[in-house]
Amino acid sequence: MTNPYRSLPAIAVLLDRPEFASERERFSRIQIAQALRETLDEFRNQISVGGSASVDISSILTQTQLRLKQSSHLKLRTVINATGIVLHTNLGRSPLHESAARAAYEAAKGYINLELDLKTGERSSRQNAIRAGICRITGAESATAVNNCAAATILALRTLANGKEVIVSRGQLIEIGGSFRIPEILELSGAKLREVGTTNITRASDYERAIGPQTGAMLRVHTSNYRISGFTQSVSIKGLVEIGNRHSIPVIDDSGSGAAIRTSFIEENSEPLIYEGIKTGAALVLFSGDKLLGGPQAGIIAGSEHWIQAIERDPFMRAVRLDKMSLAALEATLKLYERLDRVLDTIPTLRMLSTNPVEQRERSETWMEQLNPLNGTLSWKLLDETSYAGGGTLPDVPFPSVVIALKPKAISEEEFARRLRTGNPAIMARVREGQVLIDLRTVFTEQETALLSAIQSALAGST
Ligand SMILES: *Cc1c(COP(=O)(O)O)cnc(C)c1O
Repeated sequence: MTNPYRSLPAIAVLLDRPEFASERERFSRIQIAQALRETLDEFRNQISVGGSASVDISSILTQTQLRLKQSSHLKLRTVINATGIVLHTNLGRSPLHESAARAAYEAAKGYINLELDLKTGERSSRQNAIRAGICRITGAESATAVNNCAAATILALRTLANGKEVIVSRGQLIEIGGSFRIPEILELSGAKLREVGTTNITRASDYERAIGPQTGAMLRVHTSNYRISGFTQSVSIKGLVEIGNRHSIPVIDDSGSGAAIRTSFIEENSEPLIYEGIKTGAALVLFSGDKLLGGPQAGIIAGSEHWIQAIERDPFMRAVRLDKMSLAALEATLKLYERLDRVLDTIPTLRMLSTNPVEQRERSETWMEQLNPLNGTLSWKLLDETSYAGGGTLPDVPFPSVVIALKPKAISEEEFARRLRTGNPAIMARVREGQVLIDLRTVFTEQETALLSAIQSALAGST
């Protein structure tokens, strides 16, 4: 009996094969050798589990070529989001408006006056580009922005309450996701947590009783991603500021999602508006840039000049500062808010969240017509569905949606979804009860054709 492993050719021999001529142009010998090694390992595995004993050179070569091609793709690539979840954290939350994306692109590929006053030629602060825009939408005296809202919270707590106590209601000691837990963030900031009230009931008197010489600040955390209903009571930001004023204790309002305008879905969820905290007199209001504001990842801090200056003096600010691309995108996003009456149209996140189900049905019906040539391998129908904002935002607001339910005839729905996901562009869709659900709410019009061809390729098995 011949040893099947011995039929595997040596890497050194394969490396010089004429079939690799074009690979040798694009890849180093080390890269080709590595890809060959991985392919041969796979063949060895097949042999060890009793697979085909005959190894043909041509399949080793083509598999290696495929491996090299795949390795040259970037890990991060475009995903067509057909889930209907607008603030999909795993897909990068808010897509940017064209002007914001362009600003980030221009900043990325060249030099910008990031920390330079072009009039005087002097050094300036990188925060100057975004201060006025944040002040406009919040009504605050001053503002700054850092890497994300988690960093903003740590900075605010460090500045207002390092070594002191911060009073927080037990009903607001939440986890946002990942490892953003209010008690842990407080500990990290150097402040001491002083819990008051109970999970469902916290009264003004609970805060009052906890105030003493050791108190640095009071913190209100918007419970973005969960709700307590039934027998509940909490102190509004207005109530908290009144208590704070009586005792000269600053109030920090972690408002979370950054809603700058009143819309039906924001009202339905009693989502805090970013200017309300400032109007009531909170020392600082904090929110994310990439949730309902619809901008790049950022943590925005708005409030009194005094506290903003103190925050910017903190060396920790340097560790969490925004880069030039995010700053450029944030400035451009804030600029769109100059036309507040148009943001439901201009800010992609707000536009998608306010999609009208009647219009979405019409759009889905039109798009579906293009599926007709696929009826040998696929069946489809429209379904009424609900989607959610995502990103731990507006958890209680079901958005009525319409989805196209696809049922492949020759492969399972799981296999179909896998092929869609691993194609290029990748397609993310929900899978349910034997179907793959396509929600066009989060698919851009200019992606409709690519979505169709991705479905064709996935059915043909050629991804
Ligand atoms: C989302 C959220 C955060 C965290 O914001 P990131 O920008 O994701 O760091 C903090 N607080 C609240 C209330 C939130 O909703």
